[in-house]
Amino acid sequence: QAKHDGRNTFRFYAPEMDKRASERLLIENHLRRALSRNELLLHYQPKVDSRSGRVLGVEALARWENPELGLVSPTRFIPVAEETGLIESIGDWILRTACAQNKQWQDEGIPPIVVAVNISATQFRRNDLVRTVCAALEATGLAPQWLELEITESMLMQRPEHAEAILRQLAAMGVGIALDDFGTGYSSLAYLKRFPVRNLKIDRSFVQEIHTAPSDAAIVRAVVSLAKSMDLDLVAEGVEVREQLDCLASLDCHVYQGYYFSKPVPAALCASLLRQSMPVAAGSDSQPA
Ligand code: C2E
Ligand code: MG
Ligand code: MG
Ligand code: MG
Repeated sequence: QAKHDGRNTFRFYAPEMDKRASERLLIENHLRRALSRNELLLHYQPKVDSRSGRVLGVEALARWENPELGLVSPTRFIPVAEETGLIESIGDWILRTACAQNKQWQDEGIPPIVVAVNISATQFRRNDLVRTVCAALEATGLAPQWLELEITESMLMQRPEHAEAILRQLAAMGVGIALDDFGTGYSSLAYLKRFPVRNLKIDRSFVQEIHTAPSDAAIVRAVVSLAKSMDLDLVAEGVEVREQLDCLASLDCHVYQGYYFSKPVPAALCASLLRQSMPVAAGSDSQPA
């Protein structure tokens, strides 16, 4: 409380800065109660093999529905959660909920798939990530091989020794590691050799115009060959149209996520997708773009 009062006594901002700061404070105040009020939920977006049409896994994506603020995008509330330390409890809830959901699907007789959970920079920096992951697996009964953590390249760069130690422990447990938004961060390719990474997720920005921009296709071609020679799995993010999919397939990239197959959907809808492993009509996610 004292912290907020202190912050509010500074009045040197330009008006628009002031507006941003107060909006930020509004989100923070609501976010503090989001967990106890059950306002957080997870949607799941399938990862699909374009050759078989089969769903290979799902990515858990956080959603926040607040009566006053409406549906708040994770790109807005995750940074606030990070700055305020709320990411500790929220991140833990996300991890446990995703593991519990995946275990439940297995118990319902759905063929086992991997659930991927996004890990924020702050979560990754903390020393207890491995313990938190262990606790989530233990509490839910999910076997480690059905969990994958998505991190970004920049997280590896900050404290490489720390990152390596954490990733080695997770890999030894059988938990998979994916590099999210691959190609957009600053990282040395040598890191791919050093860290036990299993999966590269080609960022949506390279996929968006892949069918019309030769430079994007060239980048994807290079990543495909990198993944192949280093024996890494590869996923293309943000596939929206057939042309992108065809282009990816011609470059020998066959696993993708994107609206073309399905938007992120609530767990129940995802379960029926998993049962059929068949495309669903677009538009089932009401989140703002
Ligand atoms: P991300 O991990 O790279 O997730 C992919 C984002 O792209 C998701 O946005 C997804 O809805 C969106 N997307 C998927 N397919 C398409 C497509 O075909 N077209 C377009 N235009 N977008 C597509 P979302 O759910 O808004 O999440 C945004 C980012 O917020 C995520 O990027 C991730 O960095 C972060 N985030 C989401 N959930 C969590 C979470 O549980 N924990 C943490 N730490 N971060 C999260
Ligand atoms: Mg992700
Ligand atoms: Mg991504
Ligand atoms: Mg991305």
